[in-house]
Amino acid sequence: MDPVDRSTIWPYDEHGEPREFYYARYGHPTGAAAEARLGELEGGEALLYASGMAAETAVVLAFARPGTTIALAEGAYYGTSVLLRTLEPWGIRFVEYDQRGAPPEADIVWVESPANPLLTVPDWEALRAHPGLVVCDATVATPVYLRALDEGADVVTHSATKYLTGSHDALLGATVTRDPERTAELHRVRSRAGLICAPDGAASLLTGLDSLAARMERITASATEIAGRLDAHPAVALVRYPGYSGLISFDVADPRTVETRTRVIRNATSLGGESSTMESRHRWEGDRIPPGLLRLSIGLEEVDELWEDLSYALS
Ligand code: PLP
Repeated sequence: MDPVDRSTIWPYDEHGEPREFYYARYGHPTGAAAEARLGELEGGEALLYASGMAAETAVVLAFARPGTTIALAEGAYYGTSVLLRTLEPWGIRFVEYDQRGAPPEADIVWVESPANPLLTVPDWEALRAHPGLVVCDATVATPVYLRALDEGADVVTHSATKYLTGSHDALLGATVTRDPERTAELHRVRSRAGLICAPDGAASLLTGLDSLAARMERITASATEIAGRLDAHPAVALVRYPGYSGLISFDVADPRTVETRTRVIRNATSLGGESSTMESRHRWEGDRIPPGLLRLSIGLEEVDELWEDLSYALS
C-alpha cells in the first residue's frame, strides 16, 4: 500500500469546521509526519518547502523588511547570495563577511556550517553575542553533526534535497525554529506564497531520515580517507575538508579535465546523495571562488573505487 496521501483536500468536520488538514497548500499529513521527525532531530519545530531556495525565500519574506541588512557568510552557497541580490529591489540590503570572525552590524546574520564550497564554519560565540536574528544553513552538517539551535541559531535552514533525503530524487527544503511565533510567521508566508513541498518529497525525507545517521557515518569515514589522499597528491594544490560530512573542495590546475575524466564519480551538480558527484564550481560562481576549485561530494561507494577513479582523473 502506498502510504503517501496525495490529496489536496480533506473534508471539514461535522460542524463545517476545518480539521487539521483541509487544503494541501497549508499542510498535508505526509509533510506533517516528516516535519515531526526532522523537528525531533534538530530540537525545534520544522516546516518543509518545495526546495531549499523556497525555504530561504520564506525566511527572507518572514523576517526581512525594506531597509533590513543581511550579513551573509562569504563562500556560502552561491544561490543564497543570488537570491538576496534578486531581492535588493525590494529594499533588502546584503553584505558578505568572513564567518570565521565576528559579524558586522546587521539585522540578520546568515551563516552556513560548513559553507559550500569553501567549508569554513561560523564563530558561534560571536554569533551568540550579536543582537540580530541568526539564520544558519546546516545543509552540509546535517543534524548528525550540528544542532544549530543549540549553538545559538534562531532559524535553521536545509536544502533537504541533499543529505537529508540522500538519493538525488527529491527537491526539498526545511526551516527549523524554537520560537512558536517565528514558526507561525514562516507558516503564514509558506501558505500565502504557496512554498510548501509536495507529499512525495516529504515521503522521501521520511525514508532518508531512517538511514541518515548510518549514511553520514560511512560518508564521513570515506571523505576523511579521500581528503587525506588528495592532500598527499602532487596534482592537488589545496584541500578543504572540515573533518565530518561528505563535502571536500580542492584546487587543481585544470579542473575541467579532472571533472570530465571520472567514471564512478558523476560530473554533476548538487551534493549529499548516495552516489558521489563532482564539479568545477567556477562555471557557476566565477571569480567568487578559486578558479581551480573542484567540489566533491562523497557518497556511499567503496573508498578504493572512488580513489581509483579520482587518481586516474588526476593523472
Ligand atoms: N543551501 C545549500 C548549502 C545548498 O548547497 C543548496 C543547493 O545546492 C541550497 C541551499 C539550495 O537548495 P535547493 O537546491 O534544494 O533549492
